[in-house]
Amino acid sequence: MSKVIPAAGGTTLQRYDQLYIGGEWLTPIDGELIESIDPATGRPWAIVPMGGTQDIDRAVAAARQAFNGPWRRMPGHERATLLRRFADLFLAAIPELAVLESRDNGGLVREHRVSLAAQAQWYQWFASLADKAQGRTIPIDDSVHAFTSRMPVGVVGAVVPWNAPLLATCLKIGAALAAGCTVVVKPAEQTPVTALELARLMHKAGIPPGVFNVVPGYGRTAGAHLVKHPDVNKISFTGEGSTAKQMLRDGADNLKRFTFELGGKAPHIIFADADIDNAINAATASAWRLCGQSCALGSRVLVERPIYEHVVDAFRARAKCVRVGMPFDDTNHMGPQAHEAQLMKTLSYVEAGRQDGAELVAGGHRIVTRGLEEGYFVEPTVFAGVNNTMRIAREEIFGPIASLIPFDGEDEALAIANDTPYGLTAGLWTRDVGRAHRVSSRIEAGMVWVNTYSFLRWSTPYGGFKASGWGRENGIDALDPYLEDRTTVISTTGQFPNLYAT
Ligand code: NAD
Repeated sequence: MSKVIPAAGGTTLQRYDQLYIGGEWLTPIDGELIESIDPATGRPWAIVPMGGTQDIDRAVAAARQAFNGPWRRMPGHERATLLRRFADLFLAAIPELAVLESRDNGGLVREHRVSLAAQAQWYQWFASLADKAQGRTIPIDDSVHAFTSRMPVGVVGAVVPWNAPLLATCLKIGAALAAGCTVVVKPAEQTPVTALELARLMHKAGIPPGVFNVVPGYGRTAGAHLVKHPDVNKISFTGEGSTAKQMLRDGADNLKRFTFELGGKAPHIIFADADIDNAINAATASAWRLCGQSCALGSRVLVERPIYEHVVDAFRARAKCVRVGMPFDDTNHMGPQAHEAQLMKTLSYVEAGRQDGAELVAGGHRIVTRGLEEGYFVEPTVFAGVNNTMRIAREEIFGPIASLIPFDGEDEALAIANDTPYGLTAGLWTRDVGRAHRVSSRIEAGMVWVNTYSFLRWSTPYGGFKASGWGRENGIDALDPYLEDRTTVISTTGQFPNLYAT
């Protein structure tokens, strides 16, 4: 499926010119081939397919046929065996996948390797759940035997963003396949390649034709068609809130089921009694890791006033230590933004911070030093004197911008932390165990980290309050969003009275 072809200028382009549908590699019917841009160089690195609506139709038909075939009736432990085989192949492919993911979205190869190793465990976790979708017996009386059983929901559309393509795909397809659903993956237009590589591994693992399909494409065409499709039972989506609202409108006609993971504006609260050095380590990392391109990161750093200036100075000094550069160089700390529009968005928020009266204490510029000038690199950036009404404190930026907000006491910290439409993650640092419980229990977020940050495992449920989403991924209940419960009532006598006896 992948070939290397020469391109103008003597470079070579990887060629990924086919879609994976029904267990076969197929040329798009009504899609197109486009050049995919490497964000570290600003130059094309691959030819990739963008499927159209007819390609989505083909993929959904294949997924439906596979769902109606043996897959949904396959015993859970057999699906688990196939998923474990896939997890092993995935583990072996990590060196290659890490490089491809980096070419797609600019993340550090070093960080991708770590994330991919965790994802192999994630697939194992989902495999371990495949034979545990158990129902219940419901005690009533001797006249009936009542019980519930759990059925796969059907064909699932997985719509995936560009910031962590393989991780977001893993959380969706691992649970969906373990539950007995079939899947059509629609990766983001900026990062289609690694989903196609997953298809290669699924094929090799022996996942039956049509169970797993990949159609890269644009959101407004292929994505919207998948959401509207009457034969797709559920959409699992990670991305922008406004996209989720459009999906609700598009899916309304057939009452589609949705799981949404929709971004955040996490408060990272540092109390004056905290272990300051570790708090600063975590707060700087969570502001700049992944070039700020994760919904879970702590972009609002709330600092208790007695230590505020100290923390501002520490951020300013730490920003100078961040090595920004090529993602394949393991000594670098930060790569480029994933695409040009995202770079422009981040720079526009630097301007917004200035206009709203925040003090720029570090960074704020595109990096144009030799060798990086054509990539989408930006400096780690720090704003002080931020208040929670400013745009940099309210809106999801997805760039390496830390906004440092002072506060006085627990009540004000909580008021600021919760004054946001989002509610995905939050962090707090304190040595006072009572405060840790008081504050964490009042934070409106689906995940709260105390004296740590960004700790996420396959076993920890993940998802948002408020505008950060619907439903949870991971954890012991990870299959729930992909299952329907059926209640069956069986009479033990078979007697039914004639209501109309004269
Ligand atoms: P997006 O929501 O537009 O795109 C995410 C995915 O949805 C892509 O696969 C895209 O093709 C698809 N899509 C877009 N419109 C669609 C539609 N109408 N129907 C079906 N699918 C559709 O997000 P984006 O434009 O890539 O990023 C914009 C902003 O969203 C970012 O700057 C960031 O703030 C936020 N974001 C959040 C996350 C997250 O993890 N929560 C991930 C990516 C982006």
